[in-house]
Amino acid sequence: MFETVIGLEVHVQLNTKSKLFCSCPTSFNHKQNTNTCPTCLALPGALPVLNKEVLHKSIMLGTAIDATINRESFFDRKSYFYPDSPSAYQITQLYTPVVEHGKLEIDFLEEGAGHQKNEPTSKIIRINRAHIEADAGKNIHDGDISKVDLNRAGTPLLEIVSEPDMRSSEEVILYLKKLHSIIRYLDIGDANMQEGSFRVDVNVSIRPKGEEKLYTRVEVKNINSFKFIQKAIELEFARQTEAWEDGVYEQEIAQETRLFDQTKQETRSMRGKEEAADYRYFPEPDLLKAVVTDEMLATYSQIPELPDAKRDRFVKDYGMNEYSAGVVTSAVEMAHFFETMMEEGITAKNALTWLTTELPGRLKGEMNISNSPVDAKKLGHLVKRIEDGTISGKAAKEVLDKLMEENLDVDGVIDALGLKQVSDSGAIEAICDEIIAANPDKIEEYKGGKDKLFGFFVGQVMKASKGSANPQAVNEVLKAKLG
Ligand code: ADP
Ligand code: MG
Ligand code: ZN
Repeated sequence: MFETVIGLEVHVQLNTKSKLFCSCPTSFNHKQNTNTCPTCLALPGALPVLNKEVLHKSIMLGTAIDATINRESFFDRKSYFYPDSPSAYQITQLYTPVVEHGKLEIDFLEEGAGHQKNEPTSKIIRINRAHIEADAGKNIHDGDISKVDLNRAGTPLLEIVSEPDMRSSEEVILYLKKLHSIIRYLDIGDANMQEGSFRVDVNVSIRPKGEEKLYTRVEVKNINSFKFIQKAIELEFARQTEAWEDGVYEQEIAQETRLFDQTKQETRSMRGKEEAADYRYFPEPDLLKAVVTDEMLATYSQIPELPDAKRDRFVKDYGMNEYSAGVVTSAVEMAHFFETMMEEGITAKNALTWLTTELPGRLKGEMNISNSPVDAKKLGHLVKRIEDGTISGKAAKEVLDKLMEENLDVDGVIDALGLKQVSDSGAIEAICDEIIAANPDKIEEYKGGKDKLFGFFVGQVMKASKGSANPQAVNEVLKAKLG
């Protein structure tokens, strides 16, 4: 019996306005090679200057993961040549990173997380470090021609390195989702996997269950979705256990970087052992140490409420179960939307349904919760109108359809569409009397014990009111009249 041992390196692109060591903008979609200057082009004589905003965001992350924030950290050069890196080295932090010894808790609340009964419902994954480094540019391969775009060169990255504490792909996904969520809550990066602003390298080894020793790790790069990460881990586990069982583990499993090929569904060696990278690290001579001042620390360790704390508060304040609270707090946009809806004084159950079912069902194309034509206040108000009996749930769906098309207010649409329910007991009583008078035989049967007929009377009253009567009011009036 073997177990999988996994450690992750996550490169997060920080959403600073300018690059790490120069004042070039970091914004995307600019013409190639226009966001460049002598510093990020590594022209001779140009000197890097640290962008303080990068330190601020590092402090925020360090605080969120309960880490040590080093008051002094240092930059190093990692030498290697790539066409998209004009300096032929990367500035990074090898020896003293800005953030060290953090942790992150993952929870096994989600269904299918491979979690067994009687096992703990959470686990701590230790984070070894988070260090600052500069991103490279981009190579664009276009037929026979390869081009280089240096707009991204020098963009700030935080590389967050976990300890090898994960034991399954489920744990890996939970860790990544939690980390992703925290970065979005802190608003220190877009963390978009497809766009490459949240890049994951997966280190995988195996060992016989029960052993403490760490065996040779293989690093798999270039995986841009949770599904592929899961697949890459499965493939590596299979490859390594097979080598072990065939008695060729030592020969076949080497510490190397492998690429995940999604078409062939395999991992394969990226560089041969002979050409193993020799990075020749040395301290960066052009930069001063990065200093976190008292003032910086005081300011940027004030971070917003994080997903776990928000989840626990929703459970306490709104009486939600932990699972639902976990769902609405997993993404910051959703959590804020939900909180704003709740300000209308509605129940969490209805807010949840309208936020997670009715609204998403109407978001088309490029629409999402952040640019939804119906904002949180409006949706909350609509739910309020169901709860105070003004309209039925069915009518509310019609109102929402209308609101998705036009920027109108909830009460105006209810009036315009004539959807207001009749809750006035006088009007309802009159209809009930009519129905009772029209059905003397059914009334006899009902009084004789055929309870099921109650539903029939409610239905008749609703029909007579053309669906405008408040069903709850109808129930009450009928109950009173029929004894
Ligand atoms: P490098 O830059 O050489 O890849 P790092 O220290 O940045 O080295 O990252 C090493 C990663 O590999 C860490 O996430 C660590 O947890 C993980 N790791 C180390 N040893 C093992 C192992 N035996 N099995 C699985 N993962 C490992
Ligand atoms: Mg690595
Ligand atoms: Zn520049």
